[in-house]
Amino acid sequence: MPVNLESFISLQHDLGAQNIVLVAVSKFKSLEDIMTLYDLGQRDFGENFVQELLIKKELLPKDIRWHYIGHLQTNKVKYIVPFIHLIHGVDSLKLLSEINKQALKAGLVVNCLLQVHIAEEETKFGFNEEELLSLNKEDYSNVQISGLMGMASFSDDANKVMNEFKTLKSLYEKQKTQYKFIYLSMGMSGDYKIAIQQGSNMVRIGSIIFGERNK
Ligand SMILES: *Cc1c(COP(=O)(O)O)cnc(C)c1O
Repeated sequence: MPVNLESFISLQHDLGAQNIVLVAVSKFKSLEDIMTLYDLGQRDFGENFVQELLIKKELLPKDIRWHYIGHLQTNKVKYIVPFIHLIHGVDSLKLLSEINKQALKAGLVVNCLLQVHIAEEETKFGFNEEELLSLNKEDYSNVQISGLMGMASFSDDANKVMNEFKTLKSLYEKQKTQYKFIYLSMGMSGDYKIAIQQGSNMVRIGSIIFGERNK
């Protein structure tokens, strides 16, 4: 399926006008498709799989800002730390510690978002509010915690999705000053409009731009 240029250009325009970062989610998508967007000025791309990301990163322009948006295994952290622009899905203290450790080794500070569990489904990874409030950021000197990320339930109930995003936004506001947060990453193809209404400033969009994924 080719890139949906019309949808992309209109998203790029609308989100740009509102200062919302568009992360184009390019998992399973070809280098060619990524380059099509690159040539239209897109620089933020999101990937879910380390192996795939490493290959693409080698072959594509160096000024692409790579976002890691999936669940990250601790043993893979070291491969992405040297170049990653932002890790969205930091969902446990164990992972946070490993990122800090590898960043320290590399002499870098790595930008991360803490993933908060907002959906009803048990399968979604992330911190809950209590864990977030008790986290001591001083313990992670080589990690810059620059915001929060969350995924709402996969549901047709817009009200439910709205309330989940609302919960995340209010947590973000509570912690914003302490952490110097700048990014609230919420919203995907199916729910980004609701997410933006609730205060998202970074959306992760795949299928609207690239069409449905066939793995
Ligand atoms: C795949 C994925 C997206 C993009 O999903 P679409 O519905 O295709 O927009 C966003 N966020 C995460 C964490 C993903 O894994």
